[in-house]
Amino acid sequence: MTGLKDELRRMIAADGPITVERYMALCLGHPVHGYYTRRDPFGAAGDFVTAPEISQMFGELIGLWAVETWRLMGRPRPLALVELGPGRGTLMRDLLRAARVDPDFSDAVRVQLIETSPLLRQAQQRALGGSAVPIAWHERLPQAPVGPAIVVANEFFDALPVRQFVRAERGWCERLVGLGPDGGLAFGLFGEPESGLTVAGRSGDVLERPEAALGLAGEIAGLARTGGGAALVIDYGYEGPALGDTLQAVRRHAYADPLAEPGAADLTVHVDFAKLAAAATAEGAAVHGPVTQGAFLRGLGIETRAAALKRRATPAQAEDVERALARLTGAGPDGMGELFKAICIADPALPPPPGFAAPEVAA
Ligand code: SAH
Repeated sequence: MTGLKDELRRMIAADGPITVERYMALCLGHPVHGYYTRRDPFGAAGDFVTAPEISQMFGELIGLWAVETWRLMGRPRPLALVELGPGRGTLMRDLLRAARVDPDFSDAVRVQLIETSPLLRQAQQRALGGSAVPIAWHERLPQAPVGPAIVVANEFFDALPVRQFVRAERGWCERLVGLGPDGGLAFGLFGEPESGLTVAGRSGDVLERPEAALGLAGEIAGLARTGGGAALVIDYGYEGPALGDTLQAVRRHAYADPLAEPGAADLTVHVDFAKLAAAATAEGAAVHGPVTQGAFLRGLGIETRAAALKRRATPAQAEDVERALARLTGAGPDGMGELFKAICIADPALPPPPGFAAPEVAA
C-alpha cells in the first residue's frame, strides 16, 4: 500500500469523500507522497516517455519556432521564455541550443520555469547548468505582467486536475472518491446534482470540467494579449464537445487502475482543445490550430532535420532517428502524430506563427 493511500483513507473516513479533482491534485502534487513530488517518471526505466525524451529534434524544432515567433513579435528585448512543467529540462536544453542560430534571441531571453516538483527542479538545473541565459524557477505563472513572452507547455495540461460529473436520474452529479464496503478507495457520486449543468446526457455518461486548465488558458491568453506574445501548447487530446471519462493511470508504460496506487502511478486526462480555445478567445487572444503534432512538426521541417541527422550518423543511429521520426509524427496507436495536437494562443496582432500558417483540419 502506498503512503498516500493510507492518508487518503484516514482523510475520507474523517471528513467524507473528496472530489475527483482533489484526488488527482493530491495524487500528483501531495507535498510528501505526490507522484511528481517524489519521482522522475520519464524514460524507459520510468513510467512514460515524452516527445522531448524521444528525440532532440522535438526541442530543436520548438527552438526554431520560438526564434521565428520572436521575429514576428518584432524582436522584443528582454523576452520572457516561459515553460510550464519542464520535466527533466530536456526540451528547454534542446530549444536553447537550436535557438543559438540567432544570437540576438539568446541574448534577449530570460527563461522562467514553472515547476512544483523539487526533484524535477534539480533535474532541470542539471540539464540547464551550462546555459548562458538567465534561468529562474517559479511555483506558478507569475501574476505580475512579464512583458513580451513566449510560453511553451508540452504534456503539462494533461496533468491539471479536472472535475468529473456523472449523469444520474436526478441530473449531473459530481464524481467523488470515497471508501468502498471493503475499506478501499471507491468511486461514488455527490447526492445533489450540480446546478447550472444543462448538457444533455444519458445515464452513466461522464462530463469533465477542466477548471484548472481553463483558468490557466485564460491567464496565458491575457499574457499573450497584453505583452504581445504567443504560447505553444502540445498535448494529447480531442476537439470537443465530447463526453467520456478520460482519467487514466499509467505505470511502467501500462495502464493501471486510477484508484489502485495513488501517488505511485501517473494520472492524466485528455485535453479538450475546444474548451481551451474558447477560454483563450474569451480573454481576447487569437487561437491558431489545433493541428496534429505530426502536421505541426512536418510544417517546421522535421523531415529535413531527420535527413541531416542521418547523414552524420552510424547505421544504428540513423535507425534511431528514423524510429523517433515515426514515433513523433506517425499515425496509429504507437505514433504521437495524430493523437497529440498543437495549439497556439497568441496576441491577435501577430500573424499565424510557423506550423499554424496553413489552415489545417485536426484529425
Ligand atoms: N514537459 C515535460 C514534462 C511533462 S510531465 C516533457 O515534455 O517531458 C509534467 C510536468 O509538469 C512535470 O515537470 C511536473 O512536475 C509538472 N507539473 C505537474 N503539475 C504541475 C503544476 N500544477 N504546476 C507546476 N508544474 C506541474
